[in-house]
Amino acid sequence: MNIHEYQAKKLFENYSIPIPEGLVAATPQEATKIAAKYDFKVVVKAQVHAGGRGKAGGVKLLSSSNEIESFSSSLLGSNLVTAQTGKTGVPVNNVLVEKMYDIQREIYLAIVLDAFSKSIICVASEFGGVNIEEVAEQYPDKILTVHADPILGLQPYKLRLLAKKLNINSDLIRPFTALISNLYKLFCDKDCSMVEINPLVITHDNQLIALDAKINFDDDSLFRHKDLFDMRDKDQEDKRETRASESSINYVKLDGNVGCLVNGAGLAMATMDVISEGGATPANFLDIGGGADEDKVAEAMKIICSDPDVNKIFVNLFGGILRCDVAARGIVQASKETNIPPIVVRMLGTNADEGSQILLESSLDVKLIDNLDDARKEFSNS
Ligand code: GDP
Ligand code: MN
Repeated sequence: MNIHEYQAKKLFENYSIPIPEGLVAATPQEATKIAAKYDFKVVVKAQVHAGGRGKAGGVKLLSSSNEIESFSSSLLGSNLVTAQTGKTGVPVNNVLVEKMYDIQREIYLAIVLDAFSKSIICVASEFGGVNIEEVAEQYPDKILTVHADPILGLQPYKLRLLAKKLNINSDLIRPFTALISNLYKLFCDKDCSMVEINPLVITHDNQLIALDAKINFDDDSLFRHKDLFDMRDKDQEDKRETRASESSINYVKLDGNVGCLVNGAGLAMATMDVISEGGATPANFLDIGGGADEDKVAEAMKIICSDPDVNKIFVNLFGGILRCDVAARGIVQASKETNIPPIVVRMLGTNADEGSQILLESSLDVKLIDNLDDARKEFSNS
């Protein structure tokens, strides 16, 4: 689950991480009223669950009441499209109005779960700011990492070394290491999968401030963080992803046109690889999850078909607890409520023959295959 920048900054505040002065506004009038407190020298920032706002015109430094009112009203109620959103963008229902700071340096700082080292790592760069992706690509050695010990955490001596490598002035080393330790505590307490501050700035008057804030929580831990539920903003989520999560289906919208209906996350990843190897692009990741019945399969199929980009579907199922005949009946059930484009079906395992028979006898446009090499060929000209 994602939250907005202003919500993340509230959590930062609880963990003594310094944030800019400011407040969130839902109307241009509110925005101007907040700005008045800072003599109208403010930064107005679109609150959306996506980065890249700066480059997309969602963040602006302003210095008059008129500018603030007109920029806020152009943002509020609109959709912001950034490099991290789809074509239609995400709705801006709030703006954050913050006091403007004079920036001396922009640092990149994040704590993330690292799959390679199977540990929590701190990532930092002295070239923070809106171009961090380019820095990571062109100067990978400018991205520094510190591994957290599973018991001892991010040890202070490692953080002091990091501060040195980032050329942090000696008088800011203590606040800098304290900030990372607090961020690490927040990361662990709230079961985050990512916390990111980009940029963490040093102002001209030598203050360290988290100018931006991004937090991602591990969805599987949310049951023990009821307080975080209130921060969820479904408006920012893909409608199909929200609908899928309500039925415990793992669905992630992607850019392509081949819908995928699969049981098991690993098989779902392999399925997408096969489609891509063929030369086509998957329209979604979908893992139907454990304990699926006919209704759940039907719901998954309906979600896939509600995506206007989908014009072909790959059903790749390994019948185990979910029997193939049950899955097939689910697909037929869905076809009574929605139009299903041509489907390529690979069914193996429990009751595979029965499942295949049900699909062949239906009115669906079905092509049965039994190996992944044939699947690759099926998607070589989609
Ligand atoms: P993002 O593009 O979505 O990551 O949005 P950010 O919150 O990171 O803002 C983008 C950029 O706006 C930052 O990297 C800063 O360069 C700039 N910015 C934001 N707030 C201030 C501020 O108070 N003063 C100055 N000078 N620049 C700011
Ligand atoms: Mn940022």
